[in-house]
Amino acid sequence: MTDAAVTDPVPDQVTDPVSEPGSKPPAVGVNTRVIHHGESFAGETGSVMPPIFPTSTFAHGNPGGFDYTRSGNPNFRILDSVLASVEGCDHATVFGSGVSAITAVVSQLKQGDLVLCEENLYGCTVRLFEEVFAKFGLSTEWVDFTKPESLDSIRNSQPAMVWLESPTNPLLKVIDLQAVCAVSQPLGIPVLVDNTFATALVQRPLELGATLSLTSTTKYINGHSDALGGVVCTNDPDWHQKMVFSQKALGLQPSPFDCWLITRGIKTLPLRMRQQMANAAALADQLADHPSVNWVRYPHRADHPQYNVAQQQMKAGGAIVTVSFKATQEQTYTLCKQLRWFTMAESLGGIESLICHPATMTHAAVAAEVKAKLGIDDGLVRFSVGCEDLVDLQGDLAQALELLA
Ligand SMILES: *Cc1c(COP(=O)(O)O)cnc(C)c1O
Repeated sequence: MTDAAVTDPVPDQVTDPVSEPGSKPPAVGVNTRVIHHGESFAGETGSVMPPIFPTSTFAHGNPGGFDYTRSGNPNFRILDSVLASVEGCDHATVFGSGVSAITAVVSQLKQGDLVLCEENLYGCTVRLFEEVFAKFGLSTEWVDFTKPESLDSIRNSQPAMVWLESPTNPLLKVIDLQAVCAVSQPLGIPVLVDNTFATALVQRPLELGATLSLTSTTKYINGHSDALGGVVCTNDPDWHQKMVFSQKALGLQPSPFDCWLITRGIKTLPLRMRQQMANAAALADQLADHPSVNWVRYPHRADHPQYNVAQQQMKAGGAIVTVSFKATQEQTYTLCKQLRWFTMAESLGGIESLICHPATMTHAAVAAEVKAKLGIDDGLVRFSVGCEDLVDLQGDLAQALELLA
């Protein structure tokens, strides 16, 4: 991992929505742009931080063009602009959660449409497709997009949309986004990439050809585990209009306060991720050396099954590490509980380290044969590595690993 991941400015030619209309986009680095995010609606106050606008409605005919918070609010607009800037795209639309953002996109499809999905999608995305949208006549097919044959499935089934996630949860499979987009684009099939695990700091799906880049801002973008949010980024003006429509028509809007928190959180995204990714890479090495470990998955480790793709499309390895221990379900659970600085909890991406044991947590309800097919065994553990001192995390891990000695 190199520091280039978080210091690279976006290329000059990328339209920077933070700049004034008509002015030449400034070649300003991402560390600067997350902090100086343009219009903050602070009026005559000189307030360095943007105010919060906890209002449901606005006087008709105001210069900002606001009318009702379900269809827009200054705090949404501030966050839209900083997220579009980090993604290096024309349009970002914020939502109340990652799942709201997913709902916004899927609601644009219609009865009879087929969505070709990566088979290892985030659990709530799967549930939404299978238990909600299936009732409205939307069908899904599940494909392993790390396999070259998956590209034939796109050509053969001509879906209404391709739905990807990379790296995936919890196995950190890395999908060649450019290859999938290169097949889909000429066929007019929009590709959505759930970019939550990498964030736009590490991976830019739109530059690789995706139509839509979706992120749960609950995770790394906010980074403090104190708000929920989601965003859909695009360069396609039609899709932008569709997202704005979904936000208000389905009531998927965030709260102004949560937007304000996420706008504050993103100011330290590059700093946090630099520390988290350095910690994660070191912990992955520590784990890989342990005799009780079957395998470690970390996208920028040379033993990752899609290492070459990960090197090409991800500027760094991210801050999630997944490990398979040579241990029973009970031993693995005990090990997780033995850790002091890793809280056993769902979610990821915050400054605090978390650990998740899918067999007893996120995937507890999944049938044994499905877990086996997905590769989720009883000794599998997912680390969301935080910003703590590396020596403390390493020491904590070492003492817990003694349980398996
Ligand atoms: C958490 C998550 C979501 C859902 O986001 P919420 O903000 O919890 O609704 C979607 N995709 C991925 C990959 C996630 O990790």
